[in-house]
Amino acid sequence: MSAEARRSRPVDPAPLTYNVAQLLTELPGASRHYTLAGATIPLPEPLRLADPIEGRVDLGRTNRGLIVRGELAASIEGECSRCLRPIEIPVTVRIEEEALPSIHPESGLPLAAGTEPDALRLTDHHELELGPVVGEAISLAEPIAPLCQPDCPGLCPICGERLDAGPHDHGDDDIDPRLAALRAFRPADEAGDEDEPDAESDGQAAVEAAPGAPVEVDADRQTR
Ligand SMILES: [Zn+2]
Ligand SMILES: [Zn+2]
Repeated sequence: MSAEARRSRPVDPAPLTYNVAQLLTELPGASRHYTLAGATIPLPEPLRLADPIEGRVDLGRTNRGLIVRGELAASIEGECSRCLRPIEIPVTVRIEEEALPSIHPESGLPLAAGTEPDALRLTDHHELELGPVVGEAISLAEPIAPLCQPDCPGLCPICGERLDAGPHDHGDDDIDPRLAALRAFRPADEAGDEDEPDAESDGQAAVEAAPGAPVEVDADRQTR
C-alpha cells in the first residue's frame, strides 16, 4: 500500500482506527488529518449513539510517538430528567492524548510499557484505536440531568401525565379516589347544617310568631 493510499484510507469499516505505520517513520512534527463522518462505535453500557460521530482527528508525530487531538460531536439516546420523554442528547468531546508505540517502528521489538502503564498504546500493527478513548470521553460528556427543553415543566404530581401534553386541569372529578370517598360525606354534612335552623325556625313560627311576621322580629326576640 502506498503512502498516498494509506492517507486516503477510509475510516470504515473500523471507525476511529488509524494505521500510523507510515507516520511513525516520519520526523517529529509530521502530521495527518482525518475528517470523521457517520462513524458509529459501541459506547460503554448503557449508552447508545442516537446520531453517529462527526468531527476531526489530528495526529502529530512526536519524538516518542503521536499526539492525538480530536474534536468530535455526536448524539446519545437518553431521556428528559423531568418528563422522562426519550430525547437525543447532543454531546461534544475534545480529546488530547499522547499515544506511544508498543513495538519499535523499525526493529519490531517490544517496547517496555512499565514506565507508563496507563499511556495510550498503538497496537502491534501500528494502529491507533481511538474507539475506546472516544467512547469513554462521550460517556463523561453525558449531562447529569438532560432536559427535552430548557423550561420542561415535568410531570403532574397528581396524575403523572406530562404537564406540557395539553390542557391540564384537575377538577373534582380527577382527585384521588381516597379523597373522593371523603368528599361523598360533604353534601350530607351541609344538608344537616341546613336542616337544623329550619327545624328551629319552624318551631318558633308555630309557637311564637304569627304567620307572615317579618323575619327581623324573630331576630330581635332572640337577642333579648
Ligand atoms: Zn422534559
Ligand atoms: Zn395531572
